[in-house]
Amino acid sequence: MTHRIWNFQAGPAMLPTEVMEEAAKDFCDYKGAGMSLMEMSHRDKTFQGILDEASLHLRRLLEIPENYGVVFFPGGASLQFSCVPLNWLGEEEFADFSLTGVWATKALEEALEFNPLCQSVFLGKNSKFTEIPSLTDNDLHPKAKYLHITSNNTIYGTRYSKFPDVSVPLVADMTSELLSRPVPWNKFQVVFAGAQKNIGPSGLTVVIYNKDLLPKKSRKIPKLMDYRLMEENGSLYNTPPTFSIYIALLVFRWLERKGGIPWIEKENERKAALLYDFLQECPFFDLPVPKEHRSIMNVVFTTKNGLDEAKLLSELEKNGFSGLKGYRTIGGFRASIYNAMPFEGVQALVDFLRDFTRTRA
Ligand SMILES: *Cc1c(COP(=O)(O)O)cnc(C)c1O
Repeated sequence: MTHRIWNFQAGPAMLPTEVMEEAAKDFCDYKGAGMSLMEMSHRDKTFQGILDEASLHLRRLLEIPENYGVVFFPGGASLQFSCVPLNWLGEEEFADFSLTGVWATKALEEALEFNPLCQSVFLGKNSKFTEIPSLTDNDLHPKAKYLHITSNNTIYGTRYSKFPDVSVPLVADMTSELLSRPVPWNKFQVVFAGAQKNIGPSGLTVVIYNKDLLPKKSRKIPKLMDYRLMEENGSLYNTPPTFSIYIALLVFRWLERKGGIPWIEKENERKAALLYDFLQECPFFDLPVPKEHRSIMNVVFTTKNGLDEAKLLSELEKNGFSGLKGYRTIGGFRASIYNAMPFEGVQALVDFLRDFTRTRA
């Protein structure tokens, strides 16, 4: 048996053990090829098959419409903070940003480098990023081309349980939740997600966008950031992160085998409810985020009534629960319970916290 602890890290995050074991089995000798997939040409038909199948599975899992492109980008989610304005805005145009946390704030900062009129339409800082706004057209600039949102805020543990009802298309950073619930595609012109939370290894980003809405190229775009070029080349303009795409495919297959999005959404809700309900009732914990805005992927909590945070953290580590320290600037605790975290992992954490607060607090 492989030694695995309960890993609640926000990202890179745990992957399904089944996926890791399968990849390990084929690591040195990929299905009799006598070499690792990592050592194989990205132009080889073996890799082409993996790429095609990965994109097919993703389309099926998320019910992505035909007219949406699926591109595997290098560079992480943060690269999309510059790709999106460069591809979707002309030099004189601008977009609105809902600043519900660090990632949207960074996206706006980056967009301002290229399109100085971009603006924020919600400042979550005023409520310590515990709130999600219900934005309407009245909140937006009438000439804004799109509204950028972070659908799930990894650091603060909030999410849009309903997506904004506005007439401009949405651009959504879904890094910490893609594949955890269905996506109502008609609202979105671009959805992107860095792989390391819910999909696979870091350095790979999945970008899904409405090809009909992509404006004609009107400015200089570096080739590797050009949606059209990347799509026309089937994510193979240059050497893509081949091994990461392979692991992503194994994750997609795993999810499909288990029952797809309908199954995982229920499972995620069950996990989150178990943890939130316990934290809500236990007199030693506080939940900073109001119920209606709580993320089901990242559960943020703090201690109260004299429960020693540092002691609890070190006891958790000693007992095989890793990655629970809150984000460096906000402290407290954060349990990231992405798709790969099984219900038993959350149950084990709740049992440990219950026992700890009863006997050692
Ligand atoms: C982790 C994260 C990012 C950053 O991803 P990189 O791949 O490191 O650029 C961006 N947005 C969200 C919502 C995240 O959770």
